Amino acid sequence: MATATHERAIAPRINLYSDTQTLPTPAMRQAMAAAEVGDEQLFDDPSVNALCERVAALLGQEAAVFLPSGTMCNEIAIRVHCQPGDEVIAEASSHILNFEGGGPAALSGVQIAGLPGERGIYTAEQARAAIRDTHRYAPRSSLLEVENTANMGGGTVWPLETVRAVTDVAREHGLATHLDGARLPNAAVASGVPAADYAGCFDSAWIDFSKGLGCPVGAVLAGSAAFIEEVWRWKQRMGGAMRQAGILAAAGLHALDHHWDRLAEDHAHAALLAEALAGQEGFTVEPCDTNILFFDVGGTGRSAPDVAARAGATGLRIGAMGPTRMRAVTHLDVSGTDCEEAARILAEAAS
Ligand SMILES: *Cc1c(COP(=O)(O)O)cnc(C)c1O
Repeated sequence: MATATHERAIAPRINLYSDTQTLPTPAMRQAMAAAEVGDEQLFDDPSVNALCERVAALLGQEAAVFLPSGTMCNEIAIRVHCQPGDEVIAEASSHILNFEGGGPAALSGVQIAGLPGERGIYTAEQARAAIRDTHRYAPRSSLLEVENTANMGGGTVWPLETVRAVTDVAREHGLATHLDGARLPNAAVASGVPAADYAGCFDSAWIDFSKGLGCPVGAVLAGSAAFIEEVWRWKQRMGGAMRQAGILAAAGLHALDHHWDRLAEDHAHAALLAEALAGQEGFTVEPCDTNILFFDVGGTGRSAPDVAARAGATGLRIGAMGPTRMRAVTHLDVSGTDCEEAARILAEAAS
């Protein structure tokens, strides 16, 4: 994250910096070591094929493709859905707008209209108002994007009705629709809405395996068979086509079996941390839907980078996301006891 501090605690005892910090478990490493593999770009890797089939079904889509990262899922989807000069509608704090190195402009030649949402969520009325009239002076509105959960909004879960409403508006006006589902598993577990119900509203959708699901590498992008065929051209062109990637896909299959339902524990741990911090003088805690908790330390008189550095020195790694705003993310390698201790460390660091 651009605004985050990168001070490293030496081997942090507690790591709330991000759910990307998980290490593969011994069982996951075993699954990876035992993976059947082949040349994935010739569709000869049974593990990659199995992962893609499972994710396509999980997301209510026809087909899917394994990619090295979530960023590549977003960038290739935008490239396939849009032409240079087009406009993408997204929320102002979205990952595609803020954290992909200007990829949509550099790789697809598109601009993004960033709608000011409520905790990362915008409305159908906002989407409708943002869609341009068709005339040659205006950029062509060609894609509507939703991020669920909304990372910078606070790990916010979109209500299914809102997703349906904004994607209906897009379809009425001939726009394609894309779901950044880096943390869709968290949204599905927290809301009880099946991932397919969310993802089925979109022309394309993906999930990340290197966030809460705890894998070292990988993401899977899904859509219609025709869309995925076009995605393959860009995967090849951008250097995302791999070889014996089944080693990585096996971690993903293991995560679908063992790390999906347990996300509820991460949500409970984040709620526990929220409650502990809410009782601390000078801390203002934002609402917490899933595994991401934002809070403000302005009331303590210390800056967020200062608190992050002081916490880091006592073994807690955590992100400063602005002058006084901080982010804690729970995951596979964080326990309830860790969260209680983290609250104590943060109170001390801010005193
Ligand atoms: C992490 C993240 C991405 C990018 O995924 P990588 O696998 O890190 O490239 C995209 N969107 C959101 C919302 C994310 O949190």
